[in-house]
Amino acid sequence: MEKTAKTITSSLFSFLFRDFNPAVSIPRFLFCRRCDKINLRYFSKGSDPFKRVGPFFMDLMFWFILISILIFGLIAGSFANCAIFRFGEGESALDGRSRCPKCRRELAWYDLIPVASFFILRGKCRYCQKPISWQYPAVELAVAGLFCAAAWRFYPAVFAGHFSFFPLLELSAWWIFLAAMAVVFAADWRWYLIPDGALITGLIAVLALRAGALAQDFFLFGRPDFAALADPLSAAAFAGGLFLAMFLASRGKWMGFGDVKLAFLMGLALGFWPVLLAVFLANLFGAIMGLVMVSAKKKKMSSPIPFGPFLVAGLLISLFFAPAILDWYLLAG
Ligand SMILES: [Zn+2]
Repeated sequence: MEKTAKTITSSLFSFLFRDFNPAVSIPRFLFCRRCDKINLRYFSKGSDPFKRVGPFFMDLMFWFILISILIFGLIAGSFANCAIFRFGEGESALDGRSRCPKCRRELAWYDLIPVASFFILRGKCRYCQKPISWQYPAVELAVAGLFCAAAWRFYPAVFAGHFSFFPLLELSAWWIFLAAMAVVFAADWRWYLIPDGALITGLIAVLALRAGALAQDFFLFGRPDFAALADPLSAAAFAGGLFLAMFLASRGKWMGFGDVKLAFLMGLALGFWPVLLAVFLANLFGAIMGLVMVSAKKKKMSSPIPFGPFLVAGLLISLFFAPAILDWYLLAG
């Protein structure tokens, strides 16, 4: 009886926090642990999942999960495209059927398959033969790549078939945040505006992330660690304050108010040192791009370059590589 209770508790623990692998945990949970005849022998060899399930199955699992995440990312990317273009045309992101932006014909489902449709149609609308923006497949592929990168960075065990509740919640929040940042990047690039809808979506994802961390602390240690919020809050105040000062000093000429809100959100998502790195990288990219533009005589010194894409680029590099970069910097310096 006591043993059963312990098994249930430890299964619940692994389901909530770590190492929950349906292919391993469920058979172990359902079948008697002492009786090899009832237990699936394949699943019960030792405690190492590689030995239990076998390298071949792990490989299969890895590719299955990777391809699933890619497909999921492509679908999210096509929603992001939809949000970008409808934002530019002043429509709501969610209602109405998808139409060709040029001839306004409603599109069938087979014209809306991420990436594939673009190449099957050779980049032209089926009805009016006008070119389809290359931004559609680019955003879809970028979001799919970001989804895989986030899984690798925040929950690598998912590739071995682990599906625990809190890590998966955290990963989903990062996915939503990253899709919103893809919208910010492309909308600012294309329309010189950062949609509030994308910033609010990103904010909700980050708040869910922080709330999830507090809930996890509460379940593990009996009380949420509110002191951990000091780092993201100070980072948001610093980054948001810095950009607000630049916005006010230049009266909106150097950057728009959207950049101020974006910097605030980045601080909240990254924490203090990573957001410092992200802002530094964004300014570096902006300066390099400005010099390239001026020397190529494409733009004059005074013509606007949207700053949002540089901020998002800095954010992504910092999000995925900050630990490595900061380690390298601290060791080198
Ligand atoms: Zn058309």
